[in-house]
Amino acid sequence: MHGYPERNVEEHLRRCHTGQAPVQKVADYIPQLAKFSSDLWGVSLCTVDGQRHSVGDTKEPFCLQSCVKPLKYAVAVHDHGTEHVHSFIGKEPSGLRFNKLFLDEDDKPHNPMVNAGAIVCSSLIKPGAGNAEKFDYVMDFLKMMAGNEYVGFSNATFQSERESGDRNFAIGYYMKEKKCFPDGTDMTSVLDFYFQLCAIEVTCESASVMAATLANGGICPITGERVLSPEAVRNTLSLMHSCGMYDFSGQFAFHVGLPAKSGVAGGILLVVPNVMGIVCWSPPLDKLGNSVRGIQFCTDLVEHFNFHNYDNLRHFAKKHDPRREGGDQRVKSVINLLFAAYTGDVSALRRFALSSIDMEQRDYDSRTALHVAAAEGHTEVVRFLLEACKVNPEPRDRWGSTPIDEAVQFGHNDVVSILQNHLEKNSTSDGSDTKTQP
Ligand code: GLU
Repeated sequence: MHGYPERNVEEHLRRCHTGQAPVQKVADYIPQLAKFSSDLWGVSLCTVDGQRHSVGDTKEPFCLQSCVKPLKYAVAVHDHGTEHVHSFIGKEPSGLRFNKLFLDEDDKPHNPMVNAGAIVCSSLIKPGAGNAEKFDYVMDFLKMMAGNEYVGFSNATFQSERESGDRNFAIGYYMKEKKCFPDGTDMTSVLDFYFQLCAIEVTCESASVMAATLANGGICPITGERVLSPEAVRNTLSLMHSCGMYDFSGQFAFHVGLPAKSGVAGGILLVVPNVMGIVCWSPPLDKLGNSVRGIQFCTDLVEHFNFHNYDNLRHFAKKHDPRREGGDQRVKSVINLLFAAYTGDVSALRRFALSSIDMEQRDYDSRTALHVAAAEGHTEVVRFLLEACKVNPEPRDRWGSTPIDEAVQFGHNDVVSILQNHLEKNSTSDGSDTKTQP
């Protein structure tokens, strides 16, 4: 099922587009996964302010499988802090198959997104409690993340996972020998707990709320409840970004640039930090174990919208920004601008101008940065606005005053002469002067 030789996303996508994808296979190592139709396909999103949208098979339950790994890691860090958790588990991509029997040079699992790390992570949750209590504890967390929407459990999947889990048992015994678990851990019962967590069910809709809780710094956007600490969320997103997509993680980080985690049931949990959570689900997998349609969706999403972590939000004109530029943003921008003019902060003004801010913006009294700088006598700012930003030298505020009127009123003769010279020079030039970036 895993072991994909195609490590190149363009080639992978080309083959998917042309129907030549060499492997698009529903996971079949257990009958409970094999029974899913390869036609199933759903996408749900939930924004950080609780807006929802769903298309396709978004109410069908499916197992989280490896998508639970970041969630239980978040719970472990929320409860015990980064230092404790990472005294048992590394933070480095392994460069190896997710279920490889292998530890790092300190004899720790590489990270919590591979099986070894996720098994150790399971041992850190409510240590000392029985598995029933641990399971309820994680379920309660997941339900809070999902805003009390559907979170279920497939007992048949759990039983099958346990019966066919030889590799995970091998990893467990190896890690027991290498003393990877906290003292007193019952390794086989940790494995049981690990298999149970893989068999937790969600729908695209409910899991999109979980992803949105991660996007929203740990506060569920549906209930408003703080579920996870900001520290737990930040760690989780960092590791999803570097290690979440099996042996495709580096390419996914490069092409999509967003934290995500996929699972063998065909789910992908995708987080657009501070914007929304998205869950794609479609059972056919590529050879690396990622949902073929899900990868395609994620790639198309960032091709269209400026969500890649390194998209330049201001200058990438070809991409769409679906976020509403609320009045809020405009108010902030005019306040910043006028305050910089008031304090004479030319470097802040240069920064605003370079980020395409309109340097002629007006406040509620129709006053501009030039009015304020003239009234305060900031000659440098007045020169910068006139010469580099080429703003209108004679805007009128709501009382009909121009910047020269301000400079005269407050006795800033140097500013008066700068403005007058500028006006004379421009009236004698051909008048073709247009506003440009500095
Ligand atoms: N239950 C699977 C395992 O531990 C999880 C597989 C996956 O989703 O990557 O092998």
